[in-house]
Amino acid sequence: MSTFKAVRIDKDDAGYRAALVDFNDADLMDGDVTVRVTHSTVNYKDGLAITGKSPVVRRFPMIPGVDFCGVVEASAHEGIAPGDKVILNGWGVGESHLGGFAQKARVRGDWLVPLPAGLEAAQAMAIGTAGYTAMLCLMALEKHGITPAMGPAIVTGAAGGVGSVAVTLLKQAGFHVIASTRRPEEADYLKGLGADEIVDTKEFEGAPRPLMKERWAAGIDTVGSLTLAHVLAATRYNGAIAACGLAQGMDLPTTVAPFILRAVALLGVESVQCSKAKRIEAWGRLARELDKDKLASMTTHVPFDSVMDVARDIVQGKIRGRVVVDMA
Ligand code: NDP
Repeated sequence: MSTFKAVRIDKDDAGYRAALVDFNDADLMDGDVTVRVTHSTVNYKDGLAITGKSPVVRRFPMIPGVDFCGVVEASAHEGIAPGDKVILNGWGVGESHLGGFAQKARVRGDWLVPLPAGLEAAQAMAIGTAGYTAMLCLMALEKHGITPAMGPAIVTGAAGGVGSVAVTLLKQAGFHVIASTRRPEEADYLKGLGADEIVDTKEFEGAPRPLMKERWAAGIDTVGSLTLAHVLAATRYNGAIAACGLAQGMDLPTTVAPFILRAVALLGVESVQCSKAKRIEAWGRLARELDKDKLASMTTHVPFDSVMDVARDIVQGKIRGRVVVDMA
């Protein structure tokens, strides 16, 4: 029996707690592929899991971490061989299946996406679920027929992980990008990623009127709640907003006015159970299209033993951009 380092979450009479421990290989869950994890990343959901702020963990003990990238050690899965470099995002990993904050993971081969040509493992985790979700949002807007010629695009929670990649992707796609943030001090950072205008989220406090002045034709919303309600009320005729997050709250205090009077569309985006074909398309586009210098400028690298600190910071909205965890 061999052991490796892992973050382990327990919940019992002694309470809810996460710690870096030695984990036994034999205690990994079933799966037909075993991966040596080289890099992971901290997403908002990982912060919720480690702090216990929301009940995202559905099995104890749990190794959190909804993302990982690594090298296949053993495989009984057709088409996946030892030495292959693979990415995992979601599928309940880090929630109901032991996850990516570990030096080793065992999962179903169906869940894995090959690391696309043009991306290093660390870059893939700089993108992570956050960046892959930002691409799913852009794809949803495009599928709806939204083009830069229709007007500006707003990104909410812009200085966060999904937001930073969304600003970059929308700018590269040709949109005039409006970045909404609670941190106006990050204006230079956001402009460096491609934001043309910065909006302070103070503008989105209080209940919006059912319809407001039309300001944008598209949007990627990562925060939900009152902010999304304001964004919808100010969306142009025939515009669309891709909604993927709830950093401000799960509620949506809106009216039907934007939908029935301006033909605005609210496009739901979900990354965890997303089809493999769509994942491969999203990762291929990220490898080809996402500016790697901009990706580097939004990324911080941390050692494995910092994961708990980063998790606490991310749920407090203190992390800028993306964080890569080096598992070595
Ligand atoms: P981050 O913590 O990196 O970013 C969230 C950003 O939201 C913060 O940086 C902040 O941006 C803003 N924010 C935080 N708290 C509040 C608040 N109370 N009110 C208003 N704005 C706030 O998280 P991620 O980017 O990783 O994830 C963003 C959201 O998307 C999360 O809710 C996450 O669960 C969700 N998500 C959903 C996925 C899906 O499959 N649907 C996949 C991935 C993420 P700023 O400082 O600029 O104001």
